Amino acid sequence: MSRAVAIVGSGPSGCYLAQALLKAEPDLSVDLIDRLPVPYGLVRYGVAADHQGTKGVIRQFERLFERQGAGFIGNVSIGEDVSLDELRAAYDAVVLAAGLSADRALGIPGEMLEGVYRAGRLTRALYEHPDAEPLPELGSRVVIMGNGNVAIDILRLLAKTPEELAGSDLGAGPSAWLAGSAIEEIEIVGRSPAAAAKFDPVMIKELAKLEGVSIRVVGAGEGDDPEAAKKLAALEAIDGYGSGPRRITFRFGLTPTELSGIDGNLTEAQFEDGQGNRVTLTCSAFITAIGFNAQKSLSRDMLIDAAVDAEAGVLEEGLYATGWFRRGPRGTIPDNRADAQRLAERILADFQAGEGSPPKPGRSAFSDWADAVDYQGWKRIDAAELAAAPENRCRAKISSRDAMLALATQKQEP
Ligand SMILES: Cc1cc2nc3c(=O)[nH]c(=O)nc-3n(C[C@H](O)[C@H](O)[C@H](O)COP(=O)(O)OP(=O)(O)OC[C@H]3O[C@@H](n4cnc5c(N)ncnc54)[C@H](O)[C@@H]3O)c2cc1C
Repeated sequence: MSRAVAIVGSGPSGCYLAQALLKAEPDLSVDLIDRLPVPYGLVRYGVAADHQGTKGVIRQFERLFERQGAGFIGNVSIGEDVSLDELRAAYDAVVLAAGLSADRALGIPGEMLEGVYRAGRLTRALYEHPDAEPLPELGSRVVIMGNGNVAIDILRLLAKTPEELAGSDLGAGPSAWLAGSAIEEIEIVGRSPAAAAKFDPVMIKELAKLEGVSIRVVGAGEGDDPEAAKKLAALEAIDGYGSGPRRITFRFGLTPTELSGIDGNLTEAQFEDGQGNRVTLTCSAFITAIGFNAQKSLSRDMLIDAAVDAEAGVLEEGLYATGWFRRGPRGTIPDNRADAQRLAERILADFQAGEGSPPKPGRSAFSDWADAVDYQGWKRIDAAELAAAPENRCRAKISSRDAMLALATQKQEP
């Protein structure tokens, strides 16, 4: 079947979709287009630096480019460098797998104070995303607002000793930042009761390996369904753990109402508990890990609202959506696979139904993509990062877009 498919975004959902399409129809021409010069989305810039096992999925995705014939077109932003309409005119099917990268706001007074940071901003800085803002000064008392796995990732990294980061891909700058941190106290606060918290119990159990912490769990309450029971058991198991200098406290059922400070700098966070009582936590930094929204370059809300069949990922004829872009910011890397497999079947069925229509040109419609980063260009970046890994690290990420492009577009001698 000689049809051309453009997938916008080379994160897990885009990669799983390309895999499923090419497995079913090896003759398709499938391009993964990414605004970054490097592929794999949040596997590179979201999954924690000390969870290298999770990043192993990249080896599976490499086969997509190396054996299944997918193309990588990096450093091209759809909605900025090329419009969605131009892309749709060139490809038989366009799939938006662009994820959701804007941090969701809390919407309470004081959110703009110095000392209030959102999880995406912090993780992008920690994992050296080329568009990251600098790492902020957190001070001694940190509150993390949120009870999902992203909140627990941040908690764990902030609590680790430098030795505990061995084997990770955390860069020299972020490593020095963590090692020099003045954090004495981390309070992690959930709006819901513990029984309804979003974290995976395994993530909680992992905290009982940390060396420099002492952990307390306040007001976890009760819950009787099996999922709740697992979370509560994990919390019970870590309550009272350790005697290290960094104090960690879990609190639940607290709704944030206001952040306040002196001279523009955060000093305390106020909450309301389930009985309407006011609870105040003193803090030098307040980190929100409460989910993500769409970035502006693609009008996601409009497209999803007007979708022909949002559940199936069909936005309009020839335009589809998958992964976090379709479902919202929920679900792990493997959760995107089932989504992608179902969508691949739908796209192939749509191609079959429109078999008589003339095929579109695909990437050859864009002559200036000769300067985009291709898969070989990414492999040059990858090789340079692996070769530069210092002792105790598995990679030294290149954080500047210019430096990545210089390496990637360096053409081989004929
Ligand atoms: C901090 C964090 C930690 C996580 N840790 C884990 C974990 O340990 N384990 C786990 O299973 N899951 C984890 N997840 C969830 C997992 O990352 C997601 O399920 C998954 O990445 C979603 O895949 P996606 O392809 O839809 O989006 P993404 O991974 O976000 O990929 C989207 C891609 O689209 C590109 N893009 C965006 N806009 C454009 C545009 N306009 N033009 C071209 N390209 C564009 C982006 O550069 C990116 O490469 C984590 C998530 C976060 C935020």
